[in-house]
Amino acid sequence: MENKNTSRRTFIRNTGVAALGLPFLQHGIETLNKQHMESKKDKLGIALVGLGGYAGGQLAPALLQTEHCYLAGIVTGSPDKIPLWQKKYNIPDKNVYNYQNFESIGNNPDIDIIYVVLPNNMHAEYTIRGFDAGKHVICEKPMAINVADCDRMIAAAKKAGKELSIGYRLHFEPYNLEMARLGTSKTYGAIKKMEGGFGFKAQAGQWRLDKKMAGGGPLMDLGVYVIQGMCYTSGLEPLSVTATEGTKTDPARFPDVEQSLSWTFEFPGGITGNGKSSYDDSYNFLRAEAEKGDFGLNPAYNYNGQRGTTAAGVMDFPQVNQQARQMDAFALSLKNKTRSIVPGELGRRDVRYLQAIYESMATGKKVSINK
Ligand code: NAD
Repeated sequence: MENKNTSRRTFIRNTGVAALGLPFLQHGIETLNKQHMESKKDKLGIALVGLGGYAGGQLAPALLQTEHCYLAGIVTGSPDKIPLWQKKYNIPDKNVYNYQNFESIGNNPDIDIIYVVLPNNMHAEYTIRGFDAGKHVICEKPMAINVADCDRMIAAAKKAGKELSIGYRLHFEPYNLEMARLGTSKTYGAIKKMEGGFGFKAQAGQWRLDKKMAGGGPLMDLGVYVIQGMCYTSGLEPLSVTATEGTKTDPARFPDVEQSLSWTFEFPGGITGNGKSSYDDSYNFLRAEAEKGDFGLNPAYNYNGQRGTTAAGVMDFPQVNQQARQMDAFALSLKNKTRSIVPGELGRRDVRYLQAIYESMATGKKVSINK
């Protein structure tokens, strides 16, 4: 059995979590801004593309906590949003763009990284335009709505000689990192089975429920976290999948995407992974059953408040700002000329799995997952 405190101390030392666990919230936004403006010369500039819920609610505030990057610019199709963003984040006029003049961002030395936070079907276009402008790009999950778009995005990065990273924040979250450590180090022996699910009630009338814009339903938006969780917990890639669509009890709200679905991955060594996702039911968990005990998280995928248990007891890790860690890690990788740990290739891999799940759901057959 491992010692919880030793494991936590080792974790903090190894990941630098302590450095990010500072009590930032007690400072006012203005103070943070001032500190950032003073030290931003050493930081890479990020421009957020799309100023919706995630950009405004999570990414921009996180960029007040980052050490290696800061919010330098915005790209938006909504002029009414500009004054508030400029004031709140000290963004000069010269760093404000719209979707038409976006390419001219290439001439702006303040911007090093474009962060695409648009509906899923716009990820490919804006990522490629970002590379064409000569910038590095972070693209939100899911990377794109099909593998062909992922290939075009990766090719554009290569052509530009720039890096592509995906907004996979949970790769920087202590409880999820612990799942990966416990699973891949076989702390409780070999994993036999995994289970995961992510669902919430989605309001009607948003792009997430429009197949053309979202590429699919809850699987694209939420199920992708479950897929990721199973892969980093086991350190394995699935060989095949069998998927079933859930009963559509509200066809008016879900005219062209699934309301819910479930799937079973077969991993090497006979390990199974049962996943589910829904836009009509709330759940949020990841579990592994191993030879010498189980371990899991519930909730698993939130921005904070993860809780975990193992056969040894309750997990105890500090709360961190996942988005700040994710963006800092990418900025640092650029400074150090190393690759992102969540590169475009990882996003592409997951889009392959999403497509295989949809294929199985549509055909009712087991689908092999090829490269
Ligand atoms: P949102 O609807 O709140 O924001 C979307 C933004 O895109 C808005 O500013 C909107 O004005 C803009 N937009 C431009 N053209 C548009 C069009 N034709 N239709 C609709 N909106 C248009 O969405 P969000 O929740 O911010 O999600 C944006 C992206 O971020 C998605 O890809 C989503 O999957 C991802 N996301 C990731 C996380 C995460 O934890 N990593 C969390 C939430 C969202």
